[in-house]
Amino acid sequence: MEKVINESQQGQSLVLEQDKKNSRKLYIESYGCQMNFSDSEIVASILANEGFNTTNNIEDADLVLVNTCSIRDKAEQTVRKRLEHYNSVKKINPGMKVGVLGCMAERLKSQFLEEEKIVDLVVGPDAYKDLPNLISEVDEGRDAVNVILSKDETYGDVAPVRLNSNGVTAFVSITRGCDNMCTFCVVPFTRGRERSRDPQSIIEEVNDLWERGYKEVTLLGQNVDSYLWYGGGLKKDFEKASDLQKATAVNFANLLDMCAIAQPKMRFRFSTSNPQDMTLDVIEIMAKHANICNYIHLPVQSGSNRILKAMNRQHTREEYFDLIDNIKKIIPDCAISQDMIAGFPTETEEDHKDTLSLMEYVKYDFGFMFAYSERPGTLAARKLEDDIEEPIKKRRLQEIIQLQQKHSLYRTQQHLGKIEEVLIEKESKKSSLHWSGRNSQNTVVVFPKENYKPGDFVNVKIIDCTSATLIGEAVGYSNNN
Ligand code: SAM
Repeated sequence: MEKVINESQQGQSLVLEQDKKNSRKLYIESYGCQMNFSDSEIVASILANEGFNTTNNIEDADLVLVNTCSIRDKAEQTVRKRLEHYNSVKKINPGMKVGVLGCMAERLKSQFLEEEKIVDLVVGPDAYKDLPNLISEVDEGRDAVNVILSKDETYGDVAPVRLNSNGVTAFVSITRGCDNMCTFCVVPFTRGRERSRDPQSIIEEVNDLWERGYKEVTLLGQNVDSYLWYGGGLKKDFEKASDLQKATAVNFANLLDMCAIAQPKMRFRFSTSNPQDMTLDVIEIMAKHANICNYIHLPVQSGSNRILKAMNRQHTREEYFDLIDNIKKIIPDCAISQDMIAGFPTETEEDHKDTLSLMEYVKYDFGFMFAYSERPGTLAARKLEDDIEEPIKKRRLQEIIQLQQKHSLYRTQQHLGKIEEVLIEKESKKSSLHWSGRNSQNTVVVFPKENYKPGDFVNVKIIDCTSATLIGEAVGYSNNN
């Protein structure tokens, strides 16, 4: 299963092709959501033009960059531990410089330089184009910080270098920032206000990926359904746009349609959808195009109307059910996944039961479940005491996870006996004799390799399953090849 936060990827160092002209060595490590991994590809691309080749050996590196996540306290603690490790490496490699990128850089700003003596460079998510100047500062012996958030930076003009890629699937950023102001969430503070990327540059990136053999693209943003291009600028300023800009604006349904038409054999996915912004026209465009996958990641966070309100989620439980009903009516085999937070301030047993009953209604295909972690500066941290005791949070989280496991198995069992199109991505982790890929619903499918290869679309008969994986055997190429 593809995860919004893929635990197996956390901390991966990213390595790309070497350019012989380049003499300095960059080691870059990424944590957190897929946006961060995608941003590291932009950073590596910018620094490749500044004389840096990447290395996966930290002891060789002239520059170590860590792209950080602030979403929960645990994510920040992981980065602090990595900084301790870099400190020990510095004893062997004293010339090495250390930079912190991403959400933690934005949240802590120059405070980082005081708290972590090892850090030379602090760069927020909108300032990566300033890296060449900032690195010159560091080269001259000064610490350097740029955490300015931008109204229009989308990196649409930077061709990301695909790092550690399987050559089959890729992520393409379409929006940056978030305007939702969910009271638990640090993202609006660390990634700024929401802005969308020029659709033309998105289509060009998609076409280029197709030319280079990629077969699946996931359109990426904190809230993709809110995508709106009207010539550039913040989403919140759309109302000030000219009549012509408004009349020619491109929304998310239009963008999906454009992508699906531009590359009819490329598969498209998208993540993340916020229920309040997902409209029927998006679901109808999904139904219209066979190459848009039948899968929606639709975080709900809680099943209680009172908690949804306290989280500022802008929709009720009933409105969420209406959306689920519409999705299932228009695309009956659409898979749906969730994010859930257990133990938000003031959550009662009744509220928790509402979450469990919402899950019973939807029976999600899979989910990503977390205990509430208070984040400094958020509205919840300022207004609400983190009053649910740790053992209660943990028990509620465990109940949510257990119920999800039951539903995941129920959902994978629905695939038994069916023949489904699978895009082969790589060798199965558990067996060198099997391929691993995903069906349209985003469930991992493994099957014997035979003569197929990564990048092939194969029809697979599903013969067995666990709660996370489908096991099958190939019956031939699909007609998408
Ligand atoms: N933009 C998406 C949305 O609003 O639904 C996802 C944002 S976040 C990168 C991914 C998930 O982390 C959220 O959906 C939420 O479940 C979880 N999360 C965010 N803030 C949290 C917090 N303070 N404590 C625990 N989990 C949190």
